[in-house]
Order: sequence, then structure tokens, then C-alpha cells
Amino acid sequence: MLVMMFTSSLVLAAGGKITGPNVVAPDRYVYYPGTEVLEEDEVRVVACGTGMPDHRRAQASACFLFEFGNGEKIIFDIGSGSMRNINSLMIPAEYLTKVIISHLHTDHFGDLASLWAGGWTAGRPVSLEVWGPSGQTPDMGTAYALDAFMKLYNWDFQTRAYKISPVPGQIIAHEFDYRAINEVFYDKNGVVIRSIPAIHAGDGPVSLIIEYAGLKLVFGGDTSPNKWFIEHGRNADFVIHESFASPEFFTSMYGQPAQLAWRACCEFHTSGPAFGIVMSEINPRHAVAYHSFVDSHTELRESIRTTYDGPLSIANDMMVWNITKDEIVERMAVSPDRAFGVAGPTSQPPPERGRPSPMSDFIKKGEWGPGFNAQNEMLDDFSEKHNLEKEDWRPEKQWYKPAQ
Ligand SMILES: [Zn+2]
Ligand SMILES: [Zn+2]
Repeated sequence: MLVMMFTSSLVLAAGGKITGPNVVAPDRYVYYPGTEVLEEDEVRVVACGTGMPDHRRAQASACFLFEFGNGEKIIFDIGSGSMRNINSLMIPAEYLTKVIISHLHTDHFGDLASLWAGGWTAGRPVSLEVWGPSGQTPDMGTAYALDAFMKLYNWDFQTRAYKISPVPGQIIAHEFDYRAINEVFYDKNGVVIRSIPAIHAGDGPVSLIIEYAGLKLVFGGDTSPNKWFIEHGRNADFVIHESFASPEFFTSMYGQPAQLAWRACCEFHTSGPAFGIVMSEINPRHAVAYHSFVDSHTELRESIRTTYDGPLSIANDMMVWNITKDEIVERMAVSPDRAFGVAGPTSQPPPERGRPSPMSDFIKKGEWGPGFNAQNEMLDDFSEKHNLEKEDWRPEKQWYKPAQ
């Protein structure tokens, strides 16, 4: 994988020069998911959500997928709407089992339900593992949120657990101390992750520092400028940090009252000039701003450039970076809107024997025979093709009339 390195000032997906009406195009600065093997010491980061809580079709809420050269994949934040972008990458569900949440605002974990249930139906053979910070009190922490998540989605869990298997529907929660300063909470397969506190809306939010193959990568959750980020984000190879549009943009395009707009951008988030001075101070090899409307990016870039002149991307959904010690390449992922799930090598565990059915006889007796029997010819063909004779579910039904 080698294309020209550029630290673009605008999203670029096309380039080079076409030399005739019927020739192969030069590099288009795009990434086609599933077509490139990472080098062992390489990391690919895909922006699967870069927008606001009130997410739009053009921009999901916060989500960044990190793919490491040794096969590890970790989703950092999984904001509302982001699973559509993740699924468009056509990665088998069994490789999307780890999520790290920077804080418990829904624009940073609102699509956990989609990964949980969607990955379950798409073949994930194991439980999901989710890491996230504690809060000032237990009811403000990640473990509490995930416990409540399982209660909220109990009907979903019980019905899928019976039909498929309960194993992929379980969530293993790992809560770490939000007050920890640069302490390791994850150390597996060559990936080491530390957390530092962030300043945003209440106690709990963190930013994350990721080390892999001699690279230092930083994923900032929501935060206003803070001393921990300055101290521990310094000299990183790749730094993702939020950056909000101007208060004027929020009042004119988002309908926010001025009193909220100038605090949202600039008290509990980070505006362009503030982002810029943070980056000038910590001096990363490459800086990425996210968490603002694409429509504001031109203005945002100008405001960042008043305080920072280093390498910079303003992230759009589906922007991709390949990171090695030698270079950092920014491209756009090109994937189909109607991508199908792709199977991986591992089968799901079978349904649990003896698990009680979540459906009563009262409901079962409402099955209307002619509707079911109308499918018999199709199902007989399917059964023959896939050797399902021993698993035929129809003979025990009182309405069953085999096709002649
Ligand atoms: Zn937030
Ligand atoms: Zn946010």
C-alpha cells in the first residue's frame, strides 16, 4: 500500500491526470475496503462517525475504527448512526467484538445496540467486550450503563438467545477509573491503551492513548482544553481531537440559542482556535479534528489555522488514515450503500438446549396454517439442498400438510 502522502486541506477523493478517453485512471486517493492487507507495524483508522448528537444522513455521531497490523480491531466510540458506516466496510462480525467508550453521551455510544444485535444476527460467535470509564458515583459509570442496557433490551436478548445462542448476546463490561492519569487499562496482543481524564459536562469522560508497534495514537473523546491532554498527548504520531464549529454557526444553522451556543462550542467542547493551540503545543505528526458539521469545515479550518499550521485533517465520515513510522496517508473509503455482511471463518455456537421458549402456547396457536403451508414447496427444495431433513421444524406443527 503506497500512495502519495498528503495532509490535505480539504477532503480529496480524486486526483492525478487522465490521459485519454479510455484509459486506466491514476490514483484516486480512495480506499476500497477488504482489498488491502496491513503491514504488521501499520494501523488503519477509519472515521465511521464525525458529526453531532443530532446526526444526519451525511454524518453519523462519533466513531473511529482502529485496525492494527496484527489483526486486532477496536472500535473507539460508537455514536448514533455509525453502524451503517462500519457495516459498509464489510468486516466479518466476529472481528468487531471490542468497543472502547470515551464517555456515556449517546453520540458516543448510541449505536452499541446496533452492533450488539446486528452483529449477533450477522454471525458473531462470541460476546461483546466493552470498556469505559467509571463516574463520580456507580450510577454514572459504564458498568451501570451496560447493566441497564441489558435490562432495556431484555426482550431482544431473550428472543434472540432462544433462536440463535445466548453467547453472542452477552456483554462483558470492563470499567476503569476515569481519574486514572495515563494508567494502562488494556494490554493485549501488542496493543496498550491508557486513559487520561477529560473535561466535559461532568465527571467520567476520558481520552485514550494507544500504543502499538512503536506508534503513539491518541483518541480524544469530548473535552475542552485540558492539562492532561497537553501533558500526555505530546509528540504523538496521530491525534484525534474534537473541534466544534463557531458559536455563530450553531445559532445560524442549528437553531441554538446564543446563550447555549457560546458555551457548547467553547466551555464544554473545543473550538477551532482552541483545537489549534492544543495541537501547536503537543506537536503531533498528524492532527485530526472531528465533531463538527461538514458544512462548517471551511470556516473551522480557517479558525484552526489561526493557531496551528501543522499537518491536519478535518474528518468526514469514511475518511481513512494509514499510519506507519514512515508516513501517514489520508484517503476516503469507497464502499457500497448496500454492502452485505461477510461471513468469517468461525461458526456461532448452537442454540442452548433446554432453554425455555419465550413464546406461549396461546400465541403459537394463532399460527394460520394456509399461510405456513403455502411455503412448503420452497422449503422442501431448501431442505433438500442443505440436508435439513433431520432439522425440519414443520412436522410438530398442528397445521402441517406436506406438499404432495
Ligand atoms: Zn459528550
Ligand atoms: Zn459528543
